[in-house]
Amino acid sequence: MNFQNKYCQGDNATDHHNEVDKIEWQSLNSYHISCIEDEEIINEGNDNEKQTDTHLECTSDNKLSNESEHEDTGCTDQLLHGQFQQMAALLMQGTEEFIRKVWREGWSLVQHQHLPAWLKDNNFLVRSHRPELNSYKKCFLSIFRVHTETVNIWTHLLGWLGFLAILVVVMSQPIDHLPLQDKLIIMCFFVGTVLCLGFSWLFHTVFCHSQKVGKIFNKLDYCGIAFLTVGSFIPWLYYSFYCRFIPKVVYMTLIVILGTFALIVSMFDKFATPPYRPLRAGIFIGLGLCGAVPCLHYIIVEGFWSGIYQSSVGWLSLMAIIYITGAVIYAARIPERIFPGKFDIIFQSHQIFHVFVVLESFS
Ligand SMILES: [Zn+2]
Repeated sequence: MNFQNKYCQGDNATDHHNEVDKIEWQSLNSYHISCIEDEEIINEGNDNEKQTDTHLECTSDNKLSNESEHEDTGCTDQLLHGQFQQMAALLMQGTEEFIRKVWREGWSLVQHQHLPAWLKDNNFLVRSHRPELNSYKKCFLSIFRVHTETVNIWTHLLGWLGFLAILVVVMSQPIDHLPLQDKLIIMCFFVGTVLCLGFSWLFHTVFCHSQKVGKIFNKLDYCGIAFLTVGSFIPWLYYSFYCRFIPKVVYMTLIVILGTFALIVSMFDKFATPPYRPLRAGIFIGLGLCGAVPCLHYIIVEGFWSGIYQSSVGWLSLMAIIYITGAVIYAARIPERIFPGKFDIIFQSHQIFHVFVVLESFS
């Protein structure tokens, strides 16, 4: 019994032991399980953390990369903006220096009454005249200052640049596109225009250099008007009398002779003086009106409407009106004659004449 008890006890003990072991095991197991679960949870948590960390890292990486992209774009923009500002500042500085240099040239504008006799041309322009400069450099720098000749210079300087560009384009055309004969005929017009506008802006720039230089360029200026008129007529006569050889040659020879006559008259010193202003205008108007004779010839032979549609007689008439109006305004010195001193800088008669010359050339 005891044994049994023992056994039983033992059994019981064993059982108990087993029970304890079982409990312990179970508790251990559960502990282990709980530990494992905990570990798993921890691990999961760690993983989650890791994942979260990774996600955060990724997000932060993405953020960083996005930020760096934005920063890069921003930096590029800022750099470009900075460079642009730097360039603008340099440009401003250069322009300022240039203006200062022009102003430092050491001459001031004078009234008409204080000009030397040879520089006195239009007494209705009262103020803002350049004095005698005796320097080509000063004359050319005066292009960028405001005085009685500024608009005269720029109207023909810009027109000259435009026609020079067209002349280069015409000359560079291959022969198969534009036959040599046609090219030469068209070039007569462009060469005449380029010479006229070129001599004109040069004259208005340097005529205050000295009396000697002023006279030379004044003559060149008048020669330029003759070149323009002759150069404008040659292509018109050539194409209007294309199939009529004799009238074509006669009219072309005649306009060249009359143009040469205008050139010779322009060489006289007196021709450029103020009292001869109406004669100058008359000679150049007469040269322009010579075109009326071949025009009438064409209309009589071919008919009025053929003259309008085939020979550009309408355009030629418009050119003549512009040319004559410009010359009359130039000779009469209107509007400064009516309001002396009010058109010293802009809208004076010579500027209107210049604009008409450019318009006529373009038409
Ligand atoms: Zn002029």
